[in-house]
Amino acid sequence: MSAFTPARYIEEVIQEIKNECRCAVPGFQKIISFNFEDYGISPTLLWDAEILIQHVIRDGDFVPMDEGIQRHGDSIRHFKCKSCGRICTETYTEYSINMYRSFVIFDEDLRSSKINYALGYRGFEQSDFDKITDFIKSTDDANYIANLTKLP
Ligand SMILES: [Zn+2]
Repeated sequence: MSAFTPARYIEEVIQEIKNECRCAVPGFQKIISFNFEDYGISPTLLWDAEILIQHVIRDGDFVPMDEGIQRHGDSIRHFKCKSCGRICTETYTEYSINMYRSFVIFDEDLRSSKINYALGYRGFEQSDFDKITDFIKSTDDANYIANLTKLP
């Protein structure tokens, strides 16, 4: 079982990831790209992705390239990595006062086909989570961090 709480996650995982540019790490790209719309399910967020996007992209070593545009209820903003120059697109959507989600896709798509998650989902329908088969509950914290930091 993963022992990460959100507080420990920020201390250990975020600190490790922020040590250097992770843009070319397939597992890093994969986890922040989680989008419930890929599964035909109701709005669902992945906590791992929300925390990573907040700390590594919005408050990390990425520079916003625009103010953001609104499209069909989504807020879309482009960011550039200060170290490698790669560009990514953040989509943020609110569905109700306490339901939202974010996901990030890099222009240079290097995503792995599967990734482990540690913190889990929040969504309108718990039964929907079973339909997500490429994000797999982590059982090993060290392996989880390795997947988000190791280049192929
Ligand atoms: Zn980078």
